[in-house]
Amino acid sequence: MKCPYCNYKETKVVDKREANEGTTRRRRECLKCNKRFTTYEKVENIDLSIIKKDNTRQEFNRSKIEKGITRACEKRPVSYDQVKKIVDEIEAELRLKKTKEIKSREIGELVMKKLKKLDKIAYIRFASVYREFADISSFEEELKKLIKK
Ligand SMILES: [Zn+2]
Repeated sequence: MKCPYCNYKETKVVDKREANEGTTRRRRECLKCNKRFTTYEKVENIDLSIIKKDNTRQEFNRSKIEKGITRACEKRPVSYDQVKKIVDEIEAELRLKKTKEIKSREIGELVMKKLKKLDKIAYIRFASVYREFADISSFEEELKKLIKK
């Protein structure tokens, strides 16, 4: 943290307190000119990269996942809170991984795993879009597996 007055590199923190959510306000004093200034520091989430099927990269985007799930849950007895919870869980799982590069496939699989427990119809809808079932028979196969359970 450079002093805004003299550009000296070393400062000491003379006061520290939580400002808004996730932001820390620090009162600093320059070790050279002794002038004081205030900083607001915020911890940023580490950005995850999503690697798509065609190997292009995209920034991790919560709302995209949320949209996909919401679409699959349309007219199903699934609340917005439930959708949000799934997205939270998925994000938490991804952030626990050692790698910051996630294959879009992995996310799709996670969504499917969660939807399967929540609502079978939503699961099938999501899976049919996501897996792009090559033909109707593989789709029916999946349906049969679900009905048996
Ligand atoms: Zn200074």
